[in-house]
Amino acid sequence: MNALMYCLKDKKYSWCYETTPQPRANNRVFFWPRGKVMGGSSSLNAMVYVRGHPYDYDRWEQEGAKGWSYADCLPYFKKAQTHQLGGDDYRGDSGPLYVSRGKWNNPLYHAFVDAGLQAGYQHTEDCNGFKQEGFGHFDMTIKNGVRCNASMAYIHPILSKYKNLKISTNSMATKVIVEGSKAVGVEYKQNDATKYARARKEVILCGGSINSPQLLLLSGIGNADELRKLGIPCAANLPGVGENLQDHLEVYIQYKCSKPVTLYKYQWKFPWNMVTTGLQWFITKSGAASTTHMEAGSFFRSSSKVAHPDIQIHFLPSVVIDHGQKMGTCHAFQGHSGTMRATSRGNLKLKSTNPFDSPLINPNYLQTEQDIVDFRACVRLTTEIFSQKAFDEFREEVLDKNLRLNSNDEIDSFVRSTSETAYHPCGTAKMGSENDKSAVVDSKCRVLGIDKLRVVDASIMPSILSGNLNAPVIMMAEKAADMILGVPPLPK
Ligand SMILES: Cc1cc2nc3c(=O)[nH]c(=O)nc-3n(C[C@H](O)[C@H](O)[C@H](O)COP(=O)(O)OP(=O)(O)OC[C@H]3O[C@@H](n4cnc5c(N)ncnc54)[C@H](O)[C@@H]3O)c2cc1C
Repeated sequence: MNALMYCLKDKKYSWCYETTPQPRANNRVFFWPRGKVMGGSSSLNAMVYVRGHPYDYDRWEQEGAKGWSYADCLPYFKKAQTHQLGGDDYRGDSGPLYVSRGKWNNPLYHAFVDAGLQAGYQHTEDCNGFKQEGFGHFDMTIKNGVRCNASMAYIHPILSKYKNLKISTNSMATKVIVEGSKAVGVEYKQNDATKYARARKEVILCGGSINSPQLLLLSGIGNADELRKLGIPCAANLPGVGENLQDHLEVYIQYKCSKPVTLYKYQWKFPWNMVTTGLQWFITKSGAASTTHMEAGSFFRSSSKVAHPDIQIHFLPSVVIDHGQKMGTCHAFQGHSGTMRATSRGNLKLKSTNPFDSPLINPNYLQTEQDIVDFRACVRLTTEIFSQKAFDEFREEVLDKNLRLNSNDEIDSFVRSTSETAYHPCGTAKMGSENDKSAVVDSKCRVLGIDKLRVVDASIMPSILSGNLNAPVIMMAEKAADMILGVPPLPK
């Protein structure tokens, strides 16, 4: 867990993006880490394995992503996965991505789920199975105490298997080479040298929600008027590139804990604990360093009028301060609580034609009144859960004195001043039907108007899912692989 946090602000491993100042969030600039290593963000994420709700995928299909309903996607979730508990109607048992459950040996996990039940919510045995809604275990992409990122799952096992697999590290793609309306290769920089990779069949971008649209724009694929202003010749006029940016925002509701059961003891203030924990992990891959500690969580609705859960809490027997860069000062626990289907839409634009310049990222957080109304419910309901009897033996005061619930204004002020990204940007090269002017790729992930070019990553999500994005991206990659190979999709 801590090892994860150390990397987020290290430019060697993370792109360390920043948003533009967000007017509805007190003009704050939000820090957006993204993985700059093999495995991408799955190599520095929190390893929570969540698929989202079936209705999300059915909505995708209605939004124009033909063939991406839940029934279409479920076989690929299963194909990708080996679940520690074995296969069933929802879980896979022979895929590359290993998914496990924590040992739940912290009493706070039990308190969290009990508190949810006491507050009137349901229990769920598997939030990725038949019923997302409820309180229970969160699955994690961890195999025998070790992170199972996209690289460990998919690349490492085939490194020496395929002679035609060439991996170029320390390399940055700077442009897709388009001849006429056909993508024929990629220009990239490796240690200051400009190089070219020619595609025999097609070019597939998977740079993530920031970098894929950035690369498309640099290659002349985007809004023709805006490209012209930057002097970039337009290869395809696709106004949707960089638009439709969506993310999950969350607040951290943190309480001082009266018992020494949190992760407070695992910091360099207590070097002996750190050394023994590290040694235990290196020798046996067990102990406190072998879990993400987000072993429990919940999905519930802000009101009975909502069709499926719109609030998610990740429970953590610790506190996160400044993306894990600062340590807590006492035993404490928190719920990362956020709304899952914000209505605000942001965008991303080129700052310049230099590929090494970060783009201008404007998520437009809390732009709509609906989003702030939803967050009021989110904060009220989350604090109500933590005020249940199950937490009485652990809960002391709220750590952030700005968390006051006397009026909507007080809650709004807390949300605007403390909310943080849940690190889930998506939608910036969205999939849609060919008559949708804002679509960038078709339902086979092919860039509209350009031959032999696909995008396969979180940027092509038509809209954000009700949950974390890593498992869905891996499912999408599995599904896209069949499209690329030209084989029929797995049966529903
Ligand atoms: C701190 C953090 C915590 C998270 N926690 C969770 C979690 O617990 N559970 C969960 O499900 N999701 C989590 N996420 C989100 C999840 O990891 C991402 O949504 C998912 O990995 C996105 O996959 P992607 O393929 O779209 O992009 P990425 O995983 O970001 O992959 C993009 C890859 O392309 C590379 N790249 C980009 N541009 C170029 C270029 N021009 N040339 C060459 N290479 C390039 C990048 O370096 C990277 O390796 C978290 C994310 C972060 C950052």
